Amino acid sequence: MSKAAVRVTFLGGLGEIGRNCAAIEQDGRIVVVDAGLMFPEPNMYGVDIILPDFRWLIERRDRIDAIVLTHGHEDHTGALRYLVKDVNVPIYGSALTLGFARHRLTEAKVAKGLTFIEVADGERRKIGPFEIEFIPVTHSVPSAHALAFHTSVGVVVHSGDFKLDLTPIDGRRTDIARLAALGDEGVALLLCDSTNAEEPGFTASERSVGGALRRLFLERPERRIVVACFASHIHRVQQIIDVAKEQNRKIVLMGRSMENNAKLARKLHLLHVDASDLIDIENIDRYQPGEVCVICTGSQGEPLAALSKLSRGDARFLKVGANDTVILSSHPIPGNEWTVGRVIDDLHRAAAEVIHSGHEPVHASGHARQGELRTFHQLLRPRNFVPVHGEYRHMVHHAELAHSMGLAPKHVLICEDGDQIEVTATGIRRSGQVPAGFHYIDGSAGDLDERPLEERRMLAEWGVLQISAGVDKARGTIIQPVRLTARGWFEGEQDRSLTDAVTNEVRTAIETALRDGNRDAESLNKVAQRAAGRLLGQKYRRQPVLLASIVVL
Ligand SMILES: [Zn+2]
Ligand SMILES: [Zn+2]
Repeated sequence: MSKAAVRVTFLGGLGEIGRNCAAIEQDGRIVVVDAGLMFPEPNMYGVDIILPDFRWLIERRDRIDAIVLTHGHEDHTGALRYLVKDVNVPIYGSALTLGFARHRLTEAKVAKGLTFIEVADGERRKIGPFEIEFIPVTHSVPSAHALAFHTSVGVVVHSGDFKLDLTPIDGRRTDIARLAALGDEGVALLLCDSTNAEEPGFTASERSVGGALRRLFLERPERRIVVACFASHIHRVQQIIDVAKEQNRKIVLMGRSMENNAKLARKLHLLHVDASDLIDIENIDRYQPGEVCVICTGSQGEPLAALSKLSRGDARFLKVGANDTVILSSHPIPGNEWTVGRVIDDLHRAAAEVIHSGHEPVHASGHARQGELRTFHQLLRPRNFVPVHGEYRHMVHHAELAHSMGLAPKHVLICEDGDQIEVTATGIRRSGQVPAGFHYIDGSAGDLDERPLEERRMLAEWGVLQISAGVDKARGTIIQPVRLTARGWFEGEQDRSLTDAVTNEVRTAIETALRDGNRDAESLNKVAQRAAGRLLGQKYRRQPVLLASIVVL
């Protein structure tokens, strides 16, 4: 690595929405930006979360000076509890970001001995080899920051997650003036959120959701209203509270993270609600339906969250029914559509009215669309650009947007997880690759590599076939006949004729092996598995998990 260069290593978030993590390096010293998790796809059986591969960082832990957090979402902070076990360095972020992160680290019992350093909006601090500036941006969680690294080759800007909301609920706008000033100073590299780079126009202001909610509440003065949203979306919660208060409704906060996050946000003066307006769920029946509003977790259909329990009739103290209107103030994250659909179905089954973002404007995204991205690029006028935070197609569209803003193709790189780049005074280039595969975590079993996951896929799709038989060692004959036990197979005629065919195939294979003098149980197991696997794969196109136990007596 040349002396006058800044190196960026992308460890996650480029090619997927989730597990955001990058390392920014100068003079051999490293600052980590975010350590997020990702939620699994439905066919990743038993996987609870997916982490970045932290090996590259752990091997260099002596050279890491800090972890800097852009904001408090799980896809930016959720993997911290795994990283801090090996990399104990100061963690920087806004008070709310650190509050959310710290809470989860404490729950995981790994917060002890860690250093948290709060930064204020606009603050500039010496961290490792850099001066890092924390620039306020609007997003779907309060107190989010873009980061400006003042480096030896110029300013490197990491946008964090953002939109350009000119009417944010807390009045804290993206600091456009400061971004423009950095543009004048000269931005060597921009790393920018690509989530909505395919979408033309501008993302609606968070405030527009309040208008929609107000109308829906006014149309339903007699009904109990339950609103589900992300527990970290403090501004959404604030707007629901404000609208409910206008109708003199009491507010119930339901779900553990909703209660915890609201408590922290109230302490930090980011959420405003009088204690006298809050009631406990135990007391909800003392009020008429039109006198209460429930704000709950579970807008993504998470099976253990409050909304799922309500939809199944499993919640204590509150049964949702014909007097209730349930508003899902959210949009399903890709992959969650099915579970959200089931929750909506169950709510209908309970005779509740359901309102969601499919037919009412009860949600606004937290990410910039093309119009805002163009503005951002125009303000910063970077010399080099790498799209981050997106699936591959989002990053391609973002790169095209940068070209259309006048950036030459050689100054725009589309990177993926594991890619390393170097920025110098003159340009940008790819400089290497590091391991950055998915690190699967199964909540009950711990770490999981690809093999058990592949087996789980085979089990789910094809089931399992167990082969057993007994062999006489001295005579070299089968004395206990070949028997098959199938799980996940149909009972019908077709599968029965299939097991007959496999039984014959396996018997022939074992007899041949015995004639060749094979008496070893282990290798006879392999013979049986291979024979069954070959027949099933070639003739029937099935790949069940095969188990064999040939006993040599
Ligand atoms: Zn994000
Ligand atoms: Zn975010």
